[in-house]
Formats: sequence, C-alpha cells, structure tokens
Amino acid sequence: MELEFIDWLARRVPAHPLLRVGIGDDAAQLGTTGDTLVTVDMLNDGVDFDLRRDAPRRIGRKALAVNLSDIAAMAGRPTAAVVSLALPREGGLELARELYAGLLPLAESYQVALAGGDTNSWDGPLAISITLLGSVTPRGALVRSGARPGDRILVTGQFGGSILGRHFDFEPRVAEALTLHDAYELHAGIDVSDGLSLDTSRIARASGCGAVLDLDRIPVSVAAGELARQDGRTPLAHALSDGEDFELVLAVGPAEARRMLADQPLGIPLTEIGEFVQESGLWSRDASGSLAPLEPAGYQHELR
Ligand SMILES: [Mg+2]
Repeated sequence: MELEFIDWLARRVPAHPLLRVGIGDDAAQLGTTGDTLVTVDMLNDGVDFDLRRDAPRRIGRKALAVNLSDIAAMAGRPTAAVVSLALPREGGLELARELYAGLLPLAESYQVALAGGDTNSWDGPLAISITLLGSVTPRGALVRSGARPGDRILVTGQFGGSILGRHFDFEPRVAEALTLHDAYELHAGIDVSDGLSLDTSRIARASGCGAVLDLDRIPVSVAAGELARQDGRTPLAHALSDGEDFELVLAVGPAEARRMLADQPLGIPLTEIGEFVQESGLWSRDASGSLAPLEPAGYQHELR
C-alpha cells in the first residue's frame, strides 16, 4: 500500500522553491537559511477528534492548522511540514487520501512545502502527527518570556465555544502575527490552544510576573453564548477556559498598545483585556476595579 500511496501523494504535492529533494527519497533536502523554528503536534482519534463523527478532511486540515498556529505564536513564517500517519488497517488508504485532501490546500495557501513523512498501518486508532518548520523573521522569534509589569495584554479575535465547530475551521493567525511583529514592538506572545486564562498565565509564568484580566473586556464569541445556553455555565466562563481558540495573546508596552488599538491593523479585532503586573499569579478585575485571584483554567493532557 505504501508505494502506491506515496506515488499518489507525490503527484499531488506541488513543487516548492525550498524543496531541493522532496517526497520519494530517504530524506528531504530544504534550501533554508537562518534560524529555524520547529514544532510538532499529534492528534489522536478518541482524544482530539472522533472519526465516527468528524470528517477526515477536517481532521487533516486541523492537524496542520494547529502547527501553523504555533509558528504564528512565535511570529515566524511557516516553511515545510513532515506528516506521520498511523492508520487503522481497515479503510486506511482511503482515510489517508481524505486526510491529505484536507491538509494539502491549507499547506498550499500558507506556501508550506510538504517535505515528506511516514505512513504506517496498525490495529489501533488513527493518529496524525505533523512536524512543521518555520523561519524566524529579521525581528527574531516572539517568545513567552518577554512580558514586563505594566505591559498590556492584547488579543486577536474572540474566545470560547470553539468545540461547536471553530476548533476545526479556524484560521491560524500567521499573517496577523507577522504584520504585528513587523510594525510594532511586541514583548511576548502565545497562541491560545488550551484556554485564554491558562495560556495567558503561561506568559506571566515564563516572564516572571503576574497577569490581571479585566473580565468586562474579554471578547466573548457567539459560540460561547450558544454553549452556555446548552450547559448552564456562563459565556465568560467558556471564553476564559475553553481550549482551541487559536487566537494570539500578546504582551505590549502601554504606549505601543494604545497605538495598535487605535490603528486596528488587522482585518479582525485587536482588544486589550488586561495587564501584566509585578505580583505573580493570575487575577481577575471587575468593572469596579476590585481584584480577585483567578484559577487558570483550560485543557491539560492528563499524564499518570
Ligand atoms: Mg502554542
């Protein structure tokens, strides 16, 4: 099966200027220069998606999109991907084709070279793991550890309820991150994969400071409202703790933040939702200005 499949795939992968040697050899050769970003994400049937319910094309697209979001968090430019599939034996070939049918158009629209990968079948459930490379822009990589007390917390887009569909169909904020990193002085950044409050607290921790979230300024998505009607939690609770929004959280100095908010240089809203502070920990602030400790909430893989 593998040979036939590799031929099928090689015919579908477009040529890419970085790809000196592509699919079909023992390793790929990439003509990259400069510092390289590397990220990997593995999606598993029964954990990250459910094959009985979710279309394989959407799964394939998401497997690449989550990696693109991580490169966006570093304000890098995605360059090349390596795809590993562990396919169930029954129906594996057709499944692989469908996964790629979802993945290839996204790779093309972000000019990502498909450099190769591995395709196995086994008696277990589907697992898809993509390693994505990216290049660092002349501004350097945006890391989590650069926030300073007094920095404002800026976010792209809206939060909560992505499980109702956006967790598959989101647009990774690659272009937005590059635009902002180029035009403004960003101190730190992260993409929200596990939850707004949890991922914001990760910037604070990495930067050795704390963070205050203004609850009345959190951009709550329509989907968070829908989900709240279904489960009785509040839309705000969903916005703070639901995973897979794949929006950006940024730390920016106060004057620069004012400039960015006035400019609104993206096609999507940029919102200030709080600030980083000296005292460690995560805090909520209500409309009257009073502070309360806030438990970082979100999705965390359980390891036992
Ligand atoms: Mg991330």
